[in-house]
Amino acid sequence: MEKLKLVCCKCGNLMETLPGSSQDVIIDEETGEMLYWSGQKCGYRTIDCIVCEKCQEKGC
Ligand SMILES: [Zn+2]
Repeated sequence: MEKLKLVCCKCGNLMETLPGSSQDVIIDEETGEMLYWSGQKCGYRTIDCIVCEKCQEKGC
């Protein structure tokens, strides 16, 4: 499996893996895009707008 380049869109931090909470994925019914859970404050976000665990704690 090819590794995704995961960059936090808040702080620019490069993530090796998806944050644990972002294993929760849904498909946007309108756009067909995959949305990753990014914590209660950030909600569901697309892969190019994902936030790291630290930023999830701080809030969006
Ligand atoms: Zn971050």
